[in-house]
Amino acid sequence: MTLHLHDTLRRKKVEFEPLKPGKVTMYLCGPTVYNYAHIGNARPAVVFDVLARLLRRSFELKFARNITDVDDKINAASVETGKPIDEITARYIEAYNEDMGALGVQPPDVQPRATEHIAEMVVMIETLVDKGFAYEAEGHVLFDVSSFDDYGKLSKRDLREMLAGARVEVAPYKRAPQDFVLWKPSTPELPGWDSPWGRGRPGWHIECSAMAEKHLGRTIDIHAGGQDLVFPHHENELAQSACAHDGEVFARYWLHNGFLGIDNTKMSKSLGNVMLVHDMVKTIPGEVIRLALLSAHYRQPLDWNDDVLESARKMLDRIYGSLRGIDVPDEEAEADAAVLAALEDDLNTPKALSAIFNLARQLNKTEDENERVERAAVLRASSELLGIAQGDIEAWFSGGGNGELAAEDVEALIDKRNKARAEKDFAAADAVRDELAAAGITIEDGASATRWRRDGSN
Ligand code: AMP
Ligand code: ZN
Repeated sequence: MTLHLHDTLRRKKVEFEPLKPGKVTMYLCGPTVYNYAHIGNARPAVVFDVLARLLRRSFELKFARNITDVDDKINAASVETGKPIDEITARYIEAYNEDMGALGVQPPDVQPRATEHIAEMVVMIETLVDKGFAYEAEGHVLFDVSSFDDYGKLSKRDLREMLAGARVEVAPYKRAPQDFVLWKPSTPELPGWDSPWGRGRPGWHIECSAMAEKHLGRTIDIHAGGQDLVFPHHENELAQSACAHDGEVFARYWLHNGFLGIDNTKMSKSLGNVMLVHDMVKTIPGEVIRLALLSAHYRQPLDWNDDVLESARKMLDRIYGSLRGIDVPDEEAEADAAVLAALEDDLNTPKALSAIFNLARQLNKTEDENERVERAAVLRASSELLGIAQGDIEAWFSGGGNGELAAEDVEALIDKRNKARAEKDFAAADAVRDELAAAGITIEDGASATRWRRDGSN
């Protein structure tokens, strides 16, 4: 396999070669567990799951995706809800894994939790202090950015310009505004651990540096995450790890996915347009969401709207439609060369999808039964690389795809029915219920909302 990946540090597509022949290590910054994952958070999980699938074909892969379970946002959620921190993190870790599972994301090899690696973080911070890259001030430990010549290289920021342009109010214990926290003191109500600098908790960046080293070694092959993490998170991880390890390379390839927006706007709580995967998977098949996420190249922005979902549903109709009626053998066939070539070219999923449609078209045109079975097996194996079209073919047609009412249409009809009921127009309400039943939709009125499911789906 000749794989090319776009490396953020070199700002170009380069040929991928692992440090150790035959073995690859990959680290993906995972969720901060104080809330359900939104559809934007699902993008890196799905995109880098495709990369993991591709790498596993040719290499022994060790893939770590961490859990940030100590963070000020989690502490704030605990204060706000009155629930203990452990309860919040346990709940959202479980939900995250369930939701990503529903999107066909395979579990990583390791899922390290920050709270289980505090000792490693303390050791790394001590090393940075001993080597003169960090300093203690008022119970805090800060990384001294001026001590690392390469600071700013990953995000192409010039430290002098940053310093000159800094207008933020600088905490009194910082020598320079860009110096970032490695360790900070905790009050008795906050989570904290004993350390040489008193009871406190780690900063976010050191968590990933310590967990990556523990599970993957000092130099990792691939470090991935969303574009927003390039600065400051990854810039700071790089600085910490390189300095703690006497300049050894931290990550050999840096990969970043573009941002997902909704209807051409940023997703944000204040705009009320945050779409949670946890809610979406109740009415939309996970593989439709997954395919929609893969319909754009991972480095491009992705505008999420009803059309993206609808066209993903139609694409799956086409793939499942061409497989329909064929008894596809269980044993794995080799994936199609054009699909592989597209993915090996910096994970070009739109191109891989068009190669998959080519396979489906050819299959539709084939009449010889043996050849049809062979082509179907190749189509399945190729789709598997993208993690789509692996389900039961007939279940697709009875459960979520072809010619059925789209989720938005079902929702619109339910709204119409609820309005009719509010106006005590029960005949109209019943007519809508019948219309939904005829389309294979069963509804259930709950205390606060009406839930629905497609008959034959579970
Ligand atoms: P967080 O839990 O906020 O640290 O985010 C988890 C992952 O989701 C990180 O890799 C982020 O870069 C990524 N992410 C957050 N929002 C979006 C978005 N709108 N589009 C794409 N990726 C995102
Ligand atoms: Zn990280």
